[in-house]
Amino acid sequence: MALIVHKYGGTSMGSTERIRNVAKRVAKWARAGHQMVVVPSAMSGETNRLLGLAKELSPEITTGELQRELDMIASTGEQVSVGLLAIALQAEGMRSVSYTGWQVPIETDSSFTKARIQRIDDVRVRADLAEGKVVIITGFQGIDPDGHITTLGRGGSDTSAVAVAAAMKADECLIYTDVDGVYTTDPRIVAEARRLHTISFEEMLEMASLGSKVLQIRSVEFAGKYRVPLRVLSSFTPWDIPIDEEARSGTLITFEEDEKMEQAVVSGIAFNRDEAKVSLLGVPDKPGIAYQILGPVAEANIDVDVIIQNVGHDGRTDFSFTVHRNDYARTMDLLKAEVIPKAGGAQLSGDPKICKVSIVGIGMRSHVGVASKMFQALSDEAINIQMITTSEIKTSVVIDEKYMELAVRALHKAFDLEQAAD
Ligand code: ADP
Ligand code: ASP
Ligand code: MG
Repeated sequence: MALIVHKYGGTSMGSTERIRNVAKRVAKWARAGHQMVVVPSAMSGETNRLLGLAKELSPEITTGELQRELDMIASTGEQVSVGLLAIALQAEGMRSVSYTGWQVPIETDSSFTKARIQRIDDVRVRADLAEGKVVIITGFQGIDPDGHITTLGRGGSDTSAVAVAAAMKADECLIYTDVDGVYTTDPRIVAEARRLHTISFEEMLEMASLGSKVLQIRSVEFAGKYRVPLRVLSSFTPWDIPIDEEARSGTLITFEEDEKMEQAVVSGIAFNRDEAKVSLLGVPDKPGIAYQILGPVAEANIDVDVIIQNVGHDGRTDFSFTVHRNDYARTMDLLKAEVIPKAGGAQLSGDPKICKVSIVGIGMRSHVGVASKMFQALSDEAINIQMITTSEIKTSVVIDEKYMELAVRALHKAFDLEQAAD
């Protein structure tokens, strides 16, 4: 008998009919003798709907007080899901009980809208499992030390599921979603994308951090830290397929580099439309200038991603960086108010319509010329690269948003990913 955590995303929970299917699938696993913990998301579209209501009343949510209320609102989507799933399971003849984050409790810090899980108390859950119940826990939410409801950031149910699996030392965490695994790139953008049977933890971490929303990055971090066996698979297969077959399907996140993966230089392509570029032109080229610009940005709790400082000319230089698109207006205002007046005639410009496209692969460690092949593929499509950043197993470029799909397709082809031996 194993302890298994299942996570079902919004589309998988998208209607009562689909919830009934989830219940039948979970019941199949429970009847096979496994202890089952299930972490569902809100029904598809529900979190957007709830956040939309809040935005109607207050378009700019900037203060901590407002963010607290956002979490109060957004967390209700998952509460409905767990209750419905518990009812569906009971209708299948399974004993089941649902809990919200605060009831478990899943303890987090107090960063509303992007809280981090600090501890999960599994006493209550274990007692229910021992009584033979399926335990259903809300994804996406927790409770802070002062008793406020928090949420874990968009896509956070993945993290809830992996964190619960880690806390309970589950035998496996299965992430059921609307695609049948992790692909070489988003199959909605490139029809030729191929499913990978396995992907290394490091590559998955990069893919997630560079924009592949199939797993929230923090869920991958948790899986790595606590060595949680993690698999991404489809919730749209018939619920009654044999368990063995289901357990082997999808994509397994592996912690060892196998030989096959060494051979693929680039394993996947990620992209992110959520960024915006900010440039300061003609800033004085002197020690401390980066700090003078980015210090106030950091103090305002704005995350900076790619940074470029050009070679100086005549004592002046240009400085550009990217931030999340949601922080773009705030960053521009801040620079105008606090940095530009002290930056000796520098000019501020910005572009919220950029995107970042990245190639990822552990094979890049041992191969040269990978980045130049990427630049050539983009040049062949006449796509201008605005910024470049590299690390050991990835190269990212910032380009105009309107070329994003073209760039992803061109790179997918250039690196022969349709052919990837999966
Ligand atoms: P869920 O609601 O189940 O959490 P998400 O929408 O968050 O589902 O994540 C699944 C989606 O991730 C897929 O529908 C797909 O469009 C997208 N996606 C992006 N990159 C990839 C990738 N490399 N492989 C598979 N899916 C990807
Ligand atoms: N419902 C939340 C969201 O839409 C969490 C999740 O789906 O993982 O972001
Ligand atoms: Mg998701």
